[in-house]
Amino acid sequence: MGSHCESSVKIPPIKFTKLFINGNFVDSISGKTFDTIDPRTGEVITKVSLGDKEDVDLAVNAARHAFDYGPWPRMSGSERGRMMMKLADLIEENVEEIAALDAVNGGKLFTLCKAIDIPGAARTLRYYAGAADKIHGTVLKMSKGLQGYTLREPIGVVGSIIPWNFPTTMFFMKAAPALAAGCTLVVKPAEQTPLSALYYAHLAKLAGIPDGVLNVVNGFGETAGAAISAHMDIDKVTFTGSTEVGRKIMAAAAASNLKPVSLELGGKSPLLIFDDADIDQAADIAFRGMFYNKGEICVASSRVYVQEGIYEKLVKKLVEKAKATVVGDPFDPQVNQGPQTDKKQFEKILSYIEHGKREGATLLTGGKHVGQKGYYIEPTIFTDVNEDMIITKEEIFGPVMSLMKFKTMEEAIKRANNTTYGLASGIITKNLNVANTVSRSIRAGVVWINCYTAFDVDCPYGGYKMSGFGRDFGLDALNQYLQIKSVVTPIHDSPW
Ligand code: ADP
Repeated sequence: MGSHCESSVKIPPIKFTKLFINGNFVDSISGKTFDTIDPRTGEVITKVSLGDKEDVDLAVNAARHAFDYGPWPRMSGSERGRMMMKLADLIEENVEEIAALDAVNGGKLFTLCKAIDIPGAARTLRYYAGAADKIHGTVLKMSKGLQGYTLREPIGVVGSIIPWNFPTTMFFMKAAPALAAGCTLVVKPAEQTPLSALYYAHLAKLAGIPDGVLNVVNGFGETAGAAISAHMDIDKVTFTGSTEVGRKIMAAAAASNLKPVSLELGGKSPLLIFDDADIDQAADIAFRGMFYNKGEICVASSRVYVQEGIYEKLVKKLVEKAKATVVGDPFDPQVNQGPQTDKKQFEKILSYIEHGKREGATLLTGGKHVGQKGYYIEPTIFTDVNEDMIITKEEIFGPVMSLMKFKTMEEAIKRANNTTYGLASGIITKNLNVANTVSRSIRAGVVWINCYTAFDVDCPYGGYKMSGFGRDFGLDALNQYLQIKSVVTPIHDSPW
């Protein structure tokens, strides 16, 4: 495992650090700020305004006013779509600068932010912009003497609470369908990654999106986040993050104004590799499925089940890949894996690794932190594990894979489903019948066959079981930001 620490890309000066409320960058009411940290070094990048309940109140007031009286929900879908398209163009024009913000803030590979995350935001905006003028109700032909139709109306003010692993993807995964529907938003980015969201707020203003439609309040979960989930004037909360926090958000929503919530939560996703798989291809898919974005990905293939005939060979390949991984500065194009996003996460992952060793799992490779500073961890693979062990049960959210052997398809299905989660899954086989049978048998929101983490904005995505409910992406996501109103009129003196 190499380590590389030369940065070739200059980090741009940070332009936006305040809260964005009602179309303006403002200080928090308390005047307080918090440090945002560079996970490569643990040093402070800059200070960011710290939003709390009072700031959330201001942002909600702005969003409420923009929804109740402003042009946004009243203008045609195509007008909204045009501004969203403009925002997509502006994002593309600034791709380098924004990619650098996510890389320095989240320890994410700069080249991937530039090639995937940031252009993906533009694609997401265009996808939903194209849908904005195609939101239709239905005509109802009811009993004799009645006629009606349904309107699909924007749900209102949306609170969006998002995590730190994909700051850009998460921001637009929620904001783009909500904007297309005609909603207004208060977004609370994760406290670990507050920077790119502020850049997007600035670009939204340039794109002509009216003041108050898109507000960004940075702050901590227990304060600013909790204020959103408990707010009486927010009509819906969309959340991506841990199952533990999802539970709190749902409870707060129920205890306040019964706002609907959609929750995309944790996972411990199984990948089943059958004997007939091409070993190189399978190793590539399994490795990338787990270690992409340093394992900080909710769909990570953290439980890999390999059929016994190819188990030894596959183990060897995966270990080779782990050893060949260059862990280091995410701005260096030679590097494959950057630092974990923050210290808390870094320590949590290392403690899971220690726990795994204590539980009797065999550490095949990795297991240690890399370098003297920053939050780097070696890609780590455990074997001799089972579904009762903590490291195979709980979401680690870091570069730690559990590798297991199975004999039959039936056994693999049973073990794959032996989890409280149900976010994602994968199968590698050439046998169509096996692929189809496993696909129908696994209780998870997505099944990837001969691929993994194959995301697209056109593909709905979300959890079964304790991985949450509701769907992001796809046209299904639009429905989360719409509600149906039935309009009924009598037809008098008519034979119909
Ligand atoms: P962690 O940072 O511990 O992994 P999550 O990933 O679940 O927690 O955090 C995702 C988002 O949820 C972040 O924006 C965080 O600030 C927010 N959050 C944390 N706790 C709460 C809470 N009690 N209520 C609302 N939001 C919260």
